[in-house]
Amino acid sequence: FDDRDGFIWWDGKLIPWREAKLHVLTHGLHYASAVFEGERAYGGNIFKLRPHTDRLISSARLLGFEIPYTAEQIDTACIETMKANNLTDAYIRPLAWRGSEQLGVSAQQTKVHLMIACWTWPDYFGSDRMKGIRLNISDWRRPHPQTAPIASKAAGLYMIGTLSKHKAEAEGFEEALMYTWDGFVAEGTSANIFFVKDGKIHTPVTDCFLNGITRQTVIALAKARGIEVIERQIKPEELSSFSECFLTGTAAEVTPVRQIGTDIHYTPGKLTETLLNDYTALVRMSPEEVEKHAA
Ligand code: PMP
Repeated sequence: FDDRDGFIWWDGKLIPWREAKLHVLTHGLHYASAVFEGERAYGGNIFKLRPHTDRLISSARLLGFEIPYTAEQIDTACIETMKANNLTDAYIRPLAWRGSEQLGVSAQQTKVHLMIACWTWPDYFGSDRMKGIRLNISDWRRPHPQTAPIASKAAGLYMIGTLSKHKAEAEGFEEALMYTWDGFVAEGTSANIFFVKDGKIHTPVTDCFLNGITRQTVIALAKARGIEVIERQIKPEELSSFSECFLTGTAAEVTPVRQIGTDIHYTPGKLTETLLNDYTALVRMSPEEVEKHAA
């Protein structure tokens, strides 16, 4: 991934992709003092750019550091990076981290750095989307909110995600479903989860994982259609009682799920398809139209 053409924005400058290298004694690498975002651009517009930028800033604050740029500057830098790479439909990855000025658990002397990279992005789970994907159940659980700053999109929290995803892939599944620390249904490794029963939507409360920007958007889209959305704790025993299931995330968008573990099967249906279509239409609107939209 490091050997390609293009530009990466790093601390205020656009530099050639291949030259964007860090020192091995970077604090963020040793102690996971790093936070990031995942954004998508459609037709040259970054969808919900400001909410992503705000989450980046608040993710850093939750880890006790301040990104030395304003939200306006970060928004502009994301757009500038996309343009420098001649992209209109892209994935954008801002990352902020503590540098190599000091190494140890205490890191008060480190500088905070920011980089923004972007690249073209095909469909995350393939193009035959309504077919649905398969999830296995992870052995790893989302941590208690007093164990980790769970509202931060912190690099360190993705250790659990990578472990879960690798096991899912090794067992022939596309994604993993993680439970909460106390055994309720939580989320995928990079996406939130929703279920359908009797025309209503059920989704877990986000008490120990990210309340995704796509999750919030899809809830608003559902409510705009008069569909009831129930946010509550969901027990694993209930999984077989739902008729549809889907994931939401910036990369996943709205991705139907057709199977969980070996025994639970869903047929991706009308409600999932409606929300997928509504989301697909919304992301392609101009930022002004998105702003005016209820979602
Ligand atoms: N949960 C996790 C663990 C994620 O990495 C993501 C992707 N950022 C999400 C949920 C969905 O968040 P969003 O809709 O803001 O992309």
